[in-house]
Amino acid sequence: MDMNEREKRLRQKQAQRRKNVLIMKCIISLLILIVVFLAVVLIKDAVIPGVKKQEENTKKQQQEAQADAGGSVTADQTESTEGSGSTEDQLLAAADVMAAQYDYDGAIQSLQASSLYTNSQKMQDAVTGYQQVKATCTAYPLEQITHVFFHTMIKDPSKAFDGDAKEAGYNQVMTTMSEFTGIMESMYEKGYVMVSLHDMCTVNADGTVSSGEILLPPGKIPFVLSQDDVSYYHYMDGDGFAQKLIVDENGDVKNTYVEDDGSISVGDYDMVPWIDTFVKEHPDFSYHGHKGIIALTGYEGVLGYRTDEVYRTKEASRVTEYQQKFFDEHPDFDEAAWQKEVDDATNVANTMKAEGWEFASHTWGHIAPQTVGLEAMQKDTQRWLDNVAPVVGDTDVIIFAFGADIGDWQPYTDANPFFTYLKGKGFNIFCNVDSTQYWVQFGSNYMRQGRRNLDGYRMYYNPDMLSDLFDVSSVWDKSRPTPVPQM
Ligand SMILES: [Zn+2]
Repeated sequence: MDMNEREKRLRQKQAQRRKNVLIMKCIISLLILIVVFLAVVLIKDAVIPGVKKQEENTKKQQQEAQADAGGSVTADQTESTEGSGSTEDQLLAAADVMAAQYDYDGAIQSLQASSLYTNSQKMQDAVTGYQQVKATCTAYPLEQITHVFFHTMIKDPSKAFDGDAKEAGYNQVMTTMSEFTGIMESMYEKGYVMVSLHDMCTVNADGTVSSGEILLPPGKIPFVLSQDDVSYYHYMDGDGFAQKLIVDENGDVKNTYVEDDGSISVGDYDMVPWIDTFVKEHPDFSYHGHKGIIALTGYEGVLGYRTDEVYRTKEASRVTEYQQKFFDEHPDFDEAAWQKEVDDATNVANTMKAEGWEFASHTWGHIAPQTVGLEAMQKDTQRWLDNVAPVVGDTDVIIFAFGADIGDWQPYTDANPFFTYLKGKGFNIFCNVDSTQYWVQFGSNYMRQGRRNLDGYRMYYNPDMLSDLFDVSSVWDKSRPTPVPQM
């Protein structure tokens, strides 16, 4: 090996050493950067732990304010709740939720009403953005609005489908929570947006009913969502359904569920809390903050509470077998206990209304008016008004039990005594059951709409009729026994 060769190797070695040192320096710098970054993040969280919570609160406040005020938050209301600095961001966050729910006018007004607006480029830019999206909106044809409905969801299919005498009925007309989740997620992805029946029409002071207007950007499809018999009837005990709806410590509506060991779980075990949670994460699933409509009977109370007068009077001739069993199991259920049921149910109903839910009559006794006759229907309606309306509030919507309408497809007339009676009792909107994609009828003093059942029967026998909403094969709960029994 000559000198040149040795020299060369030495230089190569030195170069390699320098390279190694450089790499080490790089790694050390990187480590320092990471440490500094982590420190900053940790300190930020330690100093302002409320940041995330504040954001959540803002959203909630906005939604509540929107529900109360019909979509307008004034600058004063918001400014008074917070110190300086965050107000602009808060107002913008609140306006963004309104705009996400297609209430562009509300969003624009809320920003322009603020004293900060004139000097805020951010707010002015936001308004320009809302105006641009609003300009793309068109009025959706009201006669093409679909209406889907469910019964109380099956939380635990192994208990509903356990081979007893009630299994066939559950299999036909109920939907499991996993199916419901799949259906709603599919509809959301397709662009469906929940609207109210009261978005579809306007009831005027003189009793006439005119068309409403639903303005949506391209690709969005309005639909009405309803749920029947959210009473948590006695016969469903132990069959895998939620026990009742409650208001939890955060002010949210949730379900209770009785576990096998008798302990009570709280969660989203039925439609209402599931939708509330989903809309918090996807505000654009709701038009102007509106959600579904709950069709209630009254004979075993509402929302899981035993609010009917029979639980107070215990009038022997009216107490059913199930109610007698309830009294036997709850010998201490007295007048005060009944009053507490009414108070708790009223609290749940009020909380739901503030969150965008509405209520309808499903008749008090789950009756078919034309089958029982006019006089019986009048008595039944009065029972609903006496026992259910005081808890959930007045409504002008009747969603017929069994889908049993008070007339055929032809328009109602004043010659129909069932119609004139119900109209006289304040009902303006009437819903039956109709398997077609949409069926909407406007009369001079009413609106009618058909509803599609998204249950085991329809999914099993007519999956093709649901393809505009979801793919049955991808939502079908495999724990459901087949074939689904024929009606
Ligand atoms: Zn029903």
